[in-house]
Order: sequence, then structure tokens, then C-alpha cells
Amino acid sequence: MKYISTRGAAPMLAFGDVLLTGLARDGGLYLPESWPMVPADEIRAMRGLGYAEIAARVMRPFVAGAIDEADFEAMVADAYSGFGHPAVAPLKELASDHWVMELFHGPTLSFKDYALQLVGRLFDHVLTKRGQRITIVGATSGDTGSAAIEACRDRDAIEIFILHPEGRVSDVQRRQMTTVPSANVHNIAVQGTFDDCQDMVKAMFNDQAFRDKHALGAVNSINWARIMAQIAYYVVAAVALGAPDRRFVFSVPTGNFGNIFAAYGALRMGLPVDRLVVGSNSNDIVTRFFETGSMEMRPVVPTTSPSMDIQISSNFERLLFEYHDRDGTALGPAMERFREEGAMAFGDARWKSMRELFEGHRLDDGQVGAEIGRFFRTTGETLDPHSAIGVVAGERAQRPPGSVLVSMATAHPAKFPAAVEAATGVHPALPNRMSDLFDREERFSVLSNDLAVVRSFIEDTLA
Ligand SMILES: *Cc1c(COP(=O)(O)O)cnc(C)c1O
Repeated sequence: MKYISTRGAAPMLAFGDVLLTGLARDGGLYLPESWPMVPADEIRAMRGLGYAEIAARVMRPFVAGAIDEADFEAMVADAYSGFGHPAVAPLKELASDHWVMELFHGPTLSFKDYALQLVGRLFDHVLTKRGQRITIVGATSGDTGSAAIEACRDRDAIEIFILHPEGRVSDVQRRQMTTVPSANVHNIAVQGTFDDCQDMVKAMFNDQAFRDKHALGAVNSINWARIMAQIAYYVVAAVALGAPDRRFVFSVPTGNFGNIFAAYGALRMGLPVDRLVVGSNSNDIVTRFFETGSMEMRPVVPTTSPSMDIQISSNFERLLFEYHDRDGTALGPAMERFREEGAMAFGDARWKSMRELFEGHRLDDGQVGAEIGRFFRTTGETLDPHSAIGVVAGERAQRPPGSVLVSMATAHPAKFPAAVEAATGVHPALPNRMSDLFDREERFSVLSNDLAVVRSFIEDTLA
């Protein structure tokens, strides 16, 4: 399998290089040159298999030719072996034909572990084979950072720098990053927003000299390998609930558009998906786009679902590429204009065709709290604010008769205890394995919102 950039001006790469590169050299994102199909009989043959077995089958075509099949299967099995639930991603029924998939049983309690536990192992495997080292630089709105740190800690070939917006992530989220004592882990609290952090990371990747000198690698969802690993759980959910013989609607609380793009990938691989539902908090750029056809940046508002406090959804570019008939030379200039002007329309016909598949729903913090309380009282389930947004967006969505709705629960309620306790009256407890989180020592550097300052901090640390 070869990979192409959404902006059409970067070289085609094989899987190993896409993994290590992250952002393409033309500023675009990598996608497979074509979507491999999983025929209905192969989907049916997955019934009864475990999470890791299905995941390996789904991902196999994406790594074909780059990673030995037996090595890959062993890495996938190992990646999910330490998760806190035997089903890895258990499904719970909330209402008739409405299921929640719990994606928070990994080491840092968010869905990001499902991709990053594998990506860390893939990095290690490819770097060791090549005798290379890499510097991971990533921005986090809360959950990516801890999941990436957990995936990369103590790996000889990796140094990892994670930028988070100071004071804008929850205490649990911050402590999960800053209490890891490993020498290859470096946390930076930036005095700015998540978008500022993400812009700095992008700027460092766009500086070819800096990028080459330090062999920068990405763990943000601009990295294709993360999307690939996330496609797997949509297939796992659908197989468990009757695919290929039933049809599905997936609802996903959305920030950077990586998770829902993985659902789109599952559809392109042959999963019977009728609709994809975006759940937004007050930072609703994607939901507004599906409502109006125009994409418009606005300042970020802090919410009780901080992992979705984003004004630009990077992975939306991957969807735009598909809806521009994969013409990167047309999309590239449009994306540049969007960055400069902060607004753009992508054409009525294109928007209408996206609307046939996608819809968005937004909830403000007050509604999120009320809905967490309602689910707690009526079903006994405790949802975190992100998951509640996904579940309610799913309830509100158009559903073709007979379809199965699966809403993605992206974080454990104990990651956001203040919002959950306010809504339910019950303090959500951390799982036993991290019950001493608040006793561990923290380690991080606070830096001003200035690219030059952050860059030299990274250079000095590496030197
Ligand atoms: C990262 C994150 C999201 C947003 O996912 P995207 O792939 O960026 O759209 C939603 N919920 C939680 C808990 C997250 O950590």
C-alpha cells in the first residue's frame, strides 16, 4: 500500500515513512492511495473473533509490504493485552437499537489509547529495524498527550515533547502527563490555547531544516496510523451487532475530526454505514459547516469537554480531499486560503453531497450537564461530558428505520470528575490502577505562547 498527500505535491510514501513523517511535506495529510475493501463474507467471518484479531484483519492491507504479517499481529495483540476490560471496547445498550461503545479501558482512560498503544509499538518496530531515532512533538487538548506519553515512555529510540494549553486541561489529564517519571518524556505548558499549541507544532513541522535535524515525528491525529487503528473499532462494533446484515449509524463526539474520519474510512472499506453524526460542544465549527456549508473559524471557548475545544479540525482536510475527488492540486490552494482568511465555502454541490452522509448537533455545557444527569437516572450509566455529547447527538440524528445506532464513549467519567459530580451528585472514582495519581510528583515547564521560545526549549533539551 502506498500513501498520497491531500495537497498533491508531496511524494508518495510507503507505510513506514508515513508513520514516521506525520504531516506531508506540502502541508497536507496522508491517505492510502485507494481504500481496501473488506467484502461482506469477510465481515461475516469476523463474528466471534476478539478485538485484536478483528483489528489485525482490518488493518492488514494498510501495512502490507511494509511490516511482516506475523510481527504485525503480535504487535496488535500486545497493544490491547493490558486494557482494563476483557472485551477491550465493550458495548452497552442504552435504549432499543442504541448502543454505546466504551473506548476508555486503556491505560489513560480515553479512546486515544486504542490507536496510540499500537502506534508506539509501530514506531519502536520501524525505528529499531532502521537503526534510527525520532523526536515526537505533539500538541494536546488533554487526552492525546497522556496517551502518547504512555505509548512512548521509556522507548530508547524516542524523545517525546508534549505541549498543552496551561490551565485548560483537567487536573486528571494534566497529572496523567506530568507524573510520568521517564527521562524521555518532556511536558510543556503553553500560555495559550490548544490551537496555539497545534499551530506551533505545525510550524515546527513546516520548518524543513528543524524537522530534518531532529527527525520530528507526529502523534497527533494528523498521523495516518492513528486513523487506521481507529477504523478497527467501528468494524468490531458492527460485527458484534450484526454486520454485514444490519446497517449502522455512528455518533462521535468530535474535535479534530480524526475519530469520525475513521468511521468514514470504515464505510469506505465496505461497512454498511447509513449516517455519521458529529457531536459538538460550543466550539462547533464542524456542526456549523454541516448546517450552513461555510467553514468559519471563531475564537475557542473553554467548555467541560476540553478535548473538543478546538476551532480548526485538522482531519476535516482528509474528508474534503475525498469530496474533491481526491484532487490535491485543487484542495491545496483552497486550504491555504482558509488559513489566511479564516473562512471558506467549499461549494454547494459538495456540501449537499456531504450532508447526505453527515449531520452535526451541538450541546452547550448546561445541556451536557443535564444530559449526564438524565442518563445517570434513567439508565444507571455514568457518561463523561464528551461521551454525553456523542450519545445525545446520536439520539437527535435522523435514523433510517431498522438501523443500529452506536455512540462512541470517548473518555472515562473519572477523567472529568467535576462536571460528572455536578451532574450526578456522585464522584466518579478512578480505576484502582491509578488511584494514587494525586500523590505522584509532577514535572513540567511553563513557556510563553511564542514559537521561538518553545523551539529553543526543545533544542536545548535535546542538546
Ligand atoms: C480527542 C478527544 C475527542 C475528539 O476526537 P477527534 O478525533 O479529535 O475528533 C473527543 N473526546 C475525547 C475524550 C477526546 O480525548
